[in-house]
Amino acid sequence: MEGTAVRGRLTWQTATVTEIVPETARASTIVFEIPDWPGHRAGQHLDVRLTAEDGYRAERSYSIASAPGEPVAITVERLEDGEVSPYLTEDLRAGDEIELRGPVGGYFVWDPGTDRGPLLLAAGGSGVVPLRSIIRHRERTGATAKARLLYSSRSLADVIYRDELERSDAGLDVLYTLTRSHPPGWDGHTGRVDAALLAEVAWPSGQDPLAFVCGPTSFVEAVAESLVGLGYPAVRVKTERFGATGGRS
Ligand SMILES: Cc1cc2nc3c(=O)[nH]c(=O)nc-3n(C[C@H](O)[C@H](O)[C@H](O)COP(=O)(O)OP(=O)(O)OC[C@H]3O[C@@H](n4cnc5c(N)ncnc54)[C@H](O)[C@@H]3O)c2cc1C
Repeated sequence: MEGTAVRGRLTWQTATVTEIVPETARASTIVFEIPDWPGHRAGQHLDVRLTAEDGYRAERSYSIASAPGEPVAITVERLEDGEVSPYLTEDLRAGDEIELRGPVGGYFVWDPGTDRGPLLLAAGGSGVVPLRSIIRHRERTGATAKARLLYSSRSLADVIYRDELERSDAGLDVLYTLTRSHPPGWDGHTGRVDAALLAEVAWPSGQDPLAFVCGPTSFVEAVAESLVGLGYPAVRVKTERFGATGGRS
């Protein structure tokens, strides 16, 4: 309507940080109070905007880590030479205000009411963040879809949400593959996710599984291609790319 300010998901607004939870040495979860939040779906993201005193602005996208209905949270992994992630993980404090907008994205989402089939969740590094929202949503709604998380991480110490993932009941299988170092006696998988590992751990295509693959672009492309090679229809492989810089694993 002319003359009426329409607030929507693409309107920047000021959120207040209510809590910062360290997850690993490099990653922290930031919880927000957002005055005008329309609600989100599991798997969506939001945009954060920082403005310097001289007016210079930087914008980045972050997946929403919390389930629909929970306070909105993101989990940010610090890139040493990054512009935005060091500020979010090191300088931001509870009580600070920050500009954000969202939720964004209508494709990389999971809805237990309409999305059928066992879930295959594949994460590279901080790509686990939107999958955590899906995992929590599945548990909170009592959804019965089988779910398996394949999580590629540099080391066990870099695994985000490890306690929560391992506590998770409701039939969630969690499989790690560690790409750079592993503890003595580690009997789990090592190295990057490849077609052979996926052939071993992915639900057979005959079960009509639904895959969510998230992480650095190279990880996402390799996993999606392998799943299609295993007979997953491309429409059953949903992908979210964090780019070359986000969530290295
Ligand atoms: C939809 C979406 C969701 C995301 N969700 C998350 C999330 O949940 N958690 C999270 O931690 N991150 C997430 N990201 C990544 C995030 O948006 C930022 O990219 C990340 O935090 C790095 O930002 P930065 O400003 O710290 O680093 P930048 O300053 O952008 O870059 C860091 C380093 O990468 C180098 N670099 C920049 N561009 C390139 C390039 N094209 N190729 C190679 N090197 C390059 C820079 O030179 C620098 O050395 C998401 C990205 C998208 C698109």
